[in-house]
Amino acid sequence: MKDFIDDAKIQTLLEEARDPDPSEIREILAKARSKKRLEPEETAKLLQVEDPELLEEIFQLAGELKKAIYGNRIVFFAPLYIGNKCINNCLYCGFRNSNNAIDRVTLSMEELEREVITLEKEGHKRLILVYGEHPDYDADFICKTMEVVYNTKIENGEIRRVNINAAPMDVEDYKKLLDTGIGTFQIFQETYHHKTYSLLHPAGDRKADYQWRLYGLDRAMEAGIDDVGIGALFGLYDWKFEVLGLLYHSIHLEERFGVGPHTISVPRIEPALNTPFYRNNKYHVSDQDFKKLVAILRLSVPYTGLILTARENAEIRKEVIPLGVTQIDAGSRIGIGAYSKSQALLPEKEQFQLGDIRSLDEVIGELAEQGYVPSFCTAGYRCGRTGEYFMKLAKTGLVQNYCLPNALLTFKEYLEDFASEKTREIGERLIRENLEEIGKKDPARRNFVEEKLQLIAQGARDIYI
Ligand code: SAM
Ligand code: SF4
Repeated sequence: MKDFIDDAKIQTLLEEARDPDPSEIREILAKARSKKRLEPEETAKLLQVEDPELLEEIFQLAGELKKAIYGNRIVFFAPLYIGNKCINNCLYCGFRNSNNAIDRVTLSMEELEREVITLEKEGHKRLILVYGEHPDYDADFICKTMEVVYNTKIENGEIRRVNINAAPMDVEDYKKLLDTGIGTFQIFQETYHHKTYSLLHPAGDRKADYQWRLYGLDRAMEAGIDDVGIGALFGLYDWKFEVLGLLYHSIHLEERFGVGPHTISVPRIEPALNTPFYRNNKYHVSDQDFKKLVAILRLSVPYTGLILTARENAEIRKEVIPLGVTQIDAGSRIGIGAYSKSQALLPEKEQFQLGDIRSLDEVIGELAEQGYVPSFCTAGYRCGRTGEYFMKLAKTGLVQNYCLPNALLTFKEYLEDFASEKTREIGERLIRENLEEIGKKDPARRNFVEEKLQLIAQGARDIYI
């Protein structure tokens, strides 16, 4: 069966795009500036740009586009690993079945509650739950864990959006997740290159079925899950090929469902315990190429969120965020049970090594200092602003009207309830500056938001528009 990833075509596009003409590149940049999604031929040309001056123009425009569409806010979430049992043998992953150096653990519901309480005490409102692929982690189990997360609340602390990263399912199973209140379902294709996919996922494994995975999010959307997240694990094959794979995947969903993916993730491969693949790998993506790929994705799919994870270290995150990233995790721990044990690293229980293990407060303080508004907003999904409806709003600029105020309101909650003194000081200043900006364009909106901020200062919570 043929699918929508045509390897030969992607290779040809990249070949033909070599040594692009600067005037052609500038035409493509002009199209991107008008916030239109790019065609694969156009993205291929951007991918082949080597000229430092043109590259600088790409970086500049990516930053401008991000500001124009999403403003200066950054959405925060945390990953929560539920269990590391796995029936597959993905060569690059510490959880692979044949890795005997890993302790196999699954959180009990009581342990899960403790993890959630720890995260809530830090100030988190959005989680992504992560699972190995195993019969123990079927849809019913995943629903049970989602329910525990939603039902575990402390004073001023609750999780308002649960996203899932788990093995692809069938439509009936996705419907169960929908009924339990899933936010986004996320599947990374790992590599879009068919041959490399086969080499890295041994025959006979469930994961060896490229197409079951490739169409995994089609089934999620058929089941009614509006927000889906795609991704490639950068460093398994040529990164330029993967960017085009992500673009073709977005176009496929757009054509079939009227709306592309809600988010694209750009994980880069990290070392993992007893996993020699990392050392012997020849496709590692340099920091400069990583910046380039993020910027080009921003230009290619302007209305799709871009997720940068704590796999990357603090310095790289600082450089890459301005190029178009919309969501990051912080204060992350990926060892199973690591949050409540207050342990940054649990090598025998984690999938790979994280690059940024700073606390949530530290990351928030740094970003706020740079003028970004940290957001814990989950209003969009709770108000039904998802999928096609979300895209329509995004394209008419209305998201700015909802998202910035909601970012300020949830940031204010964070400052009141969880921030260190230093972060609170920086944050309050940032809120005042943003209110002034809103007031310049729309004094009534400024007053409206200020009123809500005062209510939060007086103890009201979970106010959103
Ligand atoms: N087991 C499910 C699956 O494979 O679809 C759920 C996701 S898995 C726990 C989460 C993601 O981690 C994978 O999709 C893969 O992209 C990423 N991953 C695996 N090994 C990694 C490594 N060594 N470094 C960075 N990311 C890795
Ligand atoms: Fe299992 Fe997922 Fe790791 Fe593959 S990437 S070994 S399926 S946990």
